[in-house]
Amino acid sequence: MSLEYNYDLVVVGGGPAGSSVAYEAAKNGIKVALLEKEETIAYSVRTSGVTWIESIKEFGIPDDCYNPIKNYSFCSPNNEVTITDTIPHAAVLDVRKTYRWLAQQAEKHGADIFLKTNIKDVIKNKDGDIAGVSGTSKEGEVIFHSKVVIDASGFSSVVSKSMGFVTQWERFGAGAEYEVKAENVDEETWWLMVGQKYSPAGYAWIFPVGNNIVRIGVGVGKPESAVDPTERLKELIDSKTGPISKLGKITPIEFHYGLIPNDGLTRKTVYNNLILVGDSAGQANPLVLEGIRYAIKFGRIAGKIASEAIKFGKTDEDALYAYEENWKKDIQAKIKSAGKVQDRWIGLSDEEWDKELDIIKELTPEEFLDFIKADFGLSNMIKLAAHHPKLAVRQLFNLVKSKSK
Ligand SMILES: Cc1cc2nc3c(=O)[nH]c(=O)nc-3n(C[C@H](O)[C@H](O)[C@H](O)COP(=O)(O)OP(=O)(O)OC[C@H]3O[C@@H](n4cnc5c(N)ncnc54)[C@H](O)[C@@H]3O)c2cc1C
Repeated sequence: MSLEYNYDLVVVGGGPAGSSVAYEAAKNGIKVALLEKEETIAYSVRTSGVTWIESIKEFGIPDDCYNPIKNYSFCSPNNEVTITDTIPHAAVLDVRKTYRWLAQQAEKHGADIFLKTNIKDVIKNKDGDIAGVSGTSKEGEVIFHSKVVIDASGFSSVVSKSMGFVTQWERFGAGAEYEVKAENVDEETWWLMVGQKYSPAGYAWIFPVGNNIVRIGVGVGKPESAVDPTERLKELIDSKTGPISKLGKITPIEFHYGLIPNDGLTRKTVYNNLILVGDSAGQANPLVLEGIRYAIKFGRIAGKIASEAIKFGKTDEDALYAYEENWKKDIQAKIKSAGKVQDRWIGLSDEEWDKELDIIKELTPEEFLDFIKADFGLSNMIKLAAHHPKLAVRQLFNLVKSKSK
């Protein structure tokens, strides 16, 4: 015998996307269940947690959830640049605290959170559309019936796969990271490390979390490189390569590992009674493996649109389509441009990276952040391309504004 529940909206996955959907939908007065397979929200950390203070303020995330960053350092095998801002614009999140705060917001507005609930399959109605999900919980087999289901299960996209709508991501990033206590930490400065020895198709990083704790990681593009990020990370830490040497004595606290889609925005994200959001929708900036702010922002939009559709009694693809329209308008062109910069960066040799850093040195903090954030407003980029004195910098901007093939 399975336990059975009835909800208006069922959200699979208690990451930033799922909690944000549940918050907005519950606030809008409908009956919401948020299902998470792990024993707590953010039990495993699969992210480095870099985001932007502007987004943190927009979402209302509390100030004690992040460490502000104002110096952006880059190093290649034979070059180094630090772009120093006047005030911090970036931040490294306390991932557990932030993700738990997001889930608490949903709970406060009436969402029911089910932990240790591993969703394995879907329930369909007589038309073959999704009408719920099933899996296992602490009590055994469990079934959740609902009017709309949200797939916020991240990289695994468990609901959309069970419906047969998607297959495994082909191009993705794999990242390994140690959170460590270090002797010498500059808490306001992050490091991005590029070139073959750090990562043949990606980059390595040092992100300060505060209280002398940093996250040291390696990201590798798949299938471009066969390198195992965990092995590479251990090698870099053991040999204290580059800026890792500045950290002094290192004591590991915990290990993180994760996968992030990098197939571009190729997926359809709305079906009858179903929405995909966050990593399951591929909403990630491939340049720096960034997706948390998209997960929260588009999670909230999905929650709003799904709950309105449920109240109105019409939850087919047409009724939910405003969600897809909304996020595409916001990020589709930007992510495409970021893909072009990534294609250039993935092909660079060590010598070319040394030269690329000379280009990055020419950027103002604002221009650098626009690049890293994939904030490529077309008119902005044309203006920059026209006015930057150095040809190489103009070429970088021109790449962004050139038409996609
Ligand atoms: C190495 C690495 C570093 C990154 N660094 C950054 C960064 O610095 N900044 C940034 O913005 N982004 C970063 N990202 C990307 C970011 O982590 C994701 O974009 C973001 O977590 C997406 O949120 P989500 O809610 O869609 O998915 P997730 O955070 O993956 O959450 C999905 C949730 O669903 C649960 N779940 C999965 N399957 C089931 C199931 N069958 N039943 C029930 N629950 C299930 C999972 O346990 C999880 O809690 C990084 C990613 C990686 C891999």
